[in-house]
Amino acid sequence: MPNDPAGLFAPAASVCELSLVIPAFNEAGVLGDAVAAIARSAAEVTADYEILVVDDGSSDATWPTVTAAHEADARVCGLRLSRNFGKDAALSAGIKHSRGRAVVVLDADLQHPPALIPELYRAWRRGAEIVNGIKRDRTKEPFIRRALSRMFHLAASRLTGLDFNNSSDFKLLDRRVVNAWLALPERRSFFRGMVAWLGFRAEDIYFDVAPRAGGGGSKYGVWRLARMAWSAASSYSVAPLHIIHFLSATFLSVGVVLGARAFYQKLTGQAIGGFTTVIILELLMGGFILLSLGIIAEYLAAIYEETKCRPRYIVAESLPAGYRGTIAPETHS
Ligand code: UDP
Ligand code: MG
Repeated sequence: MPNDPAGLFAPAASVCELSLVIPAFNEAGVLGDAVAAIARSAAEVTADYEILVVDDGSSDATWPTVTAAHEADARVCGLRLSRNFGKDAALSAGIKHSRGRAVVVLDADLQHPPALIPELYRAWRRGAEIVNGIKRDRTKEPFIRRALSRMFHLAASRLTGLDFNNSSDFKLLDRRVVNAWLALPERRSFFRGMVAWLGFRAEDIYFDVAPRAGGGGSKYGVWRLARMAWSAASSYSVAPLHIIHFLSATFLSVGVVLGARAFYQKLTGQAIGGFTTVIILELLMGGFILLSLGIIAEYLAAIYEETKCRPRYIVAESLPAGYRGTIAPETHS
C-alpha cells in the first residue's frame, strides 16, 4: 500500500441520504455551534445524513474542532486540505467526497440558516434537482459590499447570460447534478457559475442573511472579491474579448476617416498644426492597445493555469482516516 494519507485506495463508503458540506477557513470560534445546529436541522428530515467539514488550510483550531465533533458523532466527517485553496476549491473537495443522494452546501459562519435545511430537502423530494438559496435582504451588510456584490452579480449575469441575481453558495444538489458537476474538467472552479451553467430543474428558496456568527469579518476583502469577479467573468465568458474586438474595429474606422481627411488636407495644402489631435489620438490609441493586450494577457494566464492541470486542492488528512465518497477514483482533482 503506498503512502495514502487521504485514503485514496480505501474501499468506497456507502451512500447516505443527505450530505451537508461545510467549507471552513479559520472558523474554530463558530464551527462547533454550526455543526450542532446543522445536525439538529438535518435530523428533522432524516437520520441518515453526514456532515462533511472541509478545513481549507485553517491556521486556528478548526481541525481539532472537527476532530472533537467527529469523536462525539461519527456522522461528522472531515477533510483537511494541505493549505488554503479558497472556498470554491474547498467546496469541490467536499462535494467530490460527499456520499449523499442529495448534497447541501452551506457556510460555517451560520449566514446560511441551517433551519432551512428541511425546506431545501422537501423541495428536493418534490422533484427539484437544484435548490438555490437566494438572499432576500442584504441591508445588514455594509453599503460598499452590497454595491460591489450587486455589480458582481449584474456583470456576471450580463456577461454569461446566466441568472446569478442574489444567488448564493447555499444550495442543495441532487446526486445527478453532483455527478454532472464533477465531470466538468476545469481547474478554476466557480461554484455558482458552474451550477448555473449545468441547468437542471431548479427551485429557489429565499433566506435572510444573518450577521456573521463568531465575530471577525468576511474572509473576502474588496480586492479578493474583485479578483473573484474577474476570474468568474473570464472563466465564463469571452465577452471582454468580443468587446475589445468591436472597439478596435471602431477605432480603426475612425482612424481611416481621420487619416483620409489629413491626407486630403495635405494634398490641398491646408495642413496646419494639428499637434493636439495627434497627441490625443496617440494617447488614446496607445492606452487602448495596452488595455486590450492586458485583457488578452488575462485570458492567456487563465489558459496557462488550466493547461498546467494542477489539482484544485490537495487533501492532507481525513476523518475518519481513509474517508472518501462513493465517487472514486482520483481524489486529487
Ligand atoms: N472559506 C473557505 N476558504 C476561504 C475563505 C472562506 O473555506 O479561503 C469559507 C468560510 O469559512 C465560510 C465560507 O467560506 O464558511 C464563506 O466565507 P465568508 O463568510 O468569509 O464569506 P462571505 O460570507 O462574505 O461570502
Ligand atoms: Mg459569511
